Amino acid sequence: MHFDLVAIGGGFAGICAAVRGAELGLRTAVLETGTDEGYPCSSRWAGGIFHVSYHDVKLTPDELLTAINRQTDGETDQELAAAIAADAGRTVDWLASQGAAFTDASPIGWHRFTLAPPRLPVAGQDWQGRGPDRLLGELRRRLQERQGRLLLGTRTASLRLERGRVIGVTAHRDGAVLDIDADAVVIADGGFPGNAELFRKYIGPRPDRVLMRHAGTAIGDGLKMAAEAGAALVGLDRFYGHLLSRDAMESKALWPYPQIDAVATAAIVVDRRGSRILDEGLGGISIANNLARLHDPLCATVICDAPIWETAGKAAQIPPNPQLLAGGGTLHRADTIEALAEAAGLPPENLAGTVAEYNDAVRFNRLLTLLPERSTRSGAPRRIETPPFFAIPIGAGITNTMGGIAIDGHGRVKRPDGPAIAGLYAAGGTTGGLEGGGALGYVGGLIKACVFGLRTAEHAADRHGWAREPGAAAPVRLALATQADIGSVALAAPDGLPTPPTASSDGCSRIRRPTRCRRSLSHAAARLQLHVCQ
Ligand SMILES: Cc1cc2nc3c(=O)[nH]c(=O)nc-3n(C[C@H](O)[C@H](O)[C@H](O)COP(=O)(O)OP(=O)(O)OC[C@H]3O[C@@H](n4cnc5c(N)ncnc54)[C@H](O)[C@@H]3O)c2cc1C
Repeated sequence: MHFDLVAIGGGFAGICAAVRGAELGLRTAVLETGTDEGYPCSSRWAGGIFHVSYHDVKLTPDELLTAINRQTDGETDQELAAAIAADAGRTVDWLASQGAAFTDASPIGWHRFTLAPPRLPVAGQDWQGRGPDRLLGELRRRLQERQGRLLLGTRTASLRLERGRVIGVTAHRDGAVLDIDADAVVIADGGFPGNAELFRKYIGPRPDRVLMRHAGTAIGDGLKMAAEAGAALVGLDRFYGHLLSRDAMESKALWPYPQIDAVATAAIVVDRRGSRILDEGLGGISIANNLARLHDPLCATVICDAPIWETAGKAAQIPPNPQLLAGGGTLHRADTIEALAEAAGLPPENLAGTVAEYNDAVRFNRLLTLLPERSTRSGAPRRIETPPFFAIPIGAGITNTMGGIAIDGHGRVKRPDGPAIAGLYAAGGTTGGLEGGGALGYVGGLIKACVFGLRTAEHAADRHGWAREPGAAAPVRLALATQADIGSVALAAPDGLPTPPTASSDGCSRIRRPTRCRRSLSHAAARLQLHVCQ
């Protein structure tokens, strides 16, 4: 089997790369471990909100870059951040042109591009028939329409290299070993949140006590393959995740939602001694990372009072108040802190002392004197003083790893000493460098997967026949085209080949048939036969 581009993994990163590649005239395939068309992956289970660091994807590139830098405290690879900022808007337009339906899921600005239909506001698993599940189906159909292949039940085991260049992959399917040739390979396996050994190596000692808040299919195959091929790996010790009821370890009704983040951030998190153990003001992702690094990640309980439970508890789209109880989660309630401690199995005297010290620090603005100190990055702390009081046993949930394979702005996989590995790309949750940093800055899993899915395919298509030669035609950047901005020019396909896409650019008059173009074409470009001539 030979393809121009092979994507390892059928989440949004891999399938966007394959559909986009096919649209640009490449013969593409997705190799997916899952065995049926509803194969589980984080993309399918996602909430479906496309955002850039909690900002509307349609803001200007400058505004988006500022948002990413603010979220990450500037600890982001600027080339990757600039790529996201430049392409976020056109990526949702491209998805819409491929059948994505977006809805304004809430009055919150950065929810404007949520895949429809959105999740219901209920606890537990609710992904079937929701926006991301539907979009994966649409993209699969588009891939097949363009003669791309989705090879289910096909787990890629290793990359094949020749003289330092990737020339294909070896995969396993139905007990057989397949050698698949490919000019470009895109690793899009989702990262390593489901690999206990890698979790222990890079994140924390007890993966068995951290809730796997994902589909369980991203198990680090891509990271290992890339490392063996000589790739640089970056930021492996950070993950994107949330706080969940501790009962979610046992009950599917309590994950991936409701998240307890907003309540924890407004109140305090204590350990089994009733003492604060971390800076709650850094927000839910930071708290989840801190807990996951402990020897006892399930030691934590959130303590709050009635006003916090009635406001922060109701703030999320799927709020713990009332979805925690609706899902069968534990919520202790009492009229005094001491009685609350008894109910939650915490030492009453110590918990009362912790709450009193915290309340004083908030009242007298002495947050930095607390140990650990308390910041306000993700929201202002609130005093815990109005009964009834509440205690919620929590755990850390890992959604996806933030670090991974180092890539450049085209998604090419980098070596530690800089230059890219020829023929090798990576996209989505398996990549690192954009997110994480000291501030555990999150940029957005969906936008990262889709932007780099498109970029890898576009670069591979350029390399495959449209690379600029001195004095020759510039490569077409269909990247800039969406169905919406088409002043379209339809081009005929050569006999026996797929119909080329309808193309547009900001200057359609510059598009002409390649038969009139002097430049000789490589076989990939010949299939598409589309050039923008200077
Ligand atoms: C519950 C939940 C809610 C989320 N909500 C949002 C949200 O609202 N907004 C947002 O921006 N992000 C959200 N995310 C994060 C986002 O879904 C992910 O970051 C993104 O979908 C990752 O896409 P991906 O294609 O890189 O990986 P995945 O979707 O994980 O796909 C990887 C695929 O690779 C396959 N695979 C793995 N190994 C191999 C192999 N060796 N060979 C072949 N195939 C392989 C897997 O089976 C899988 O299908 C959410 C995630 C979860 C779990």
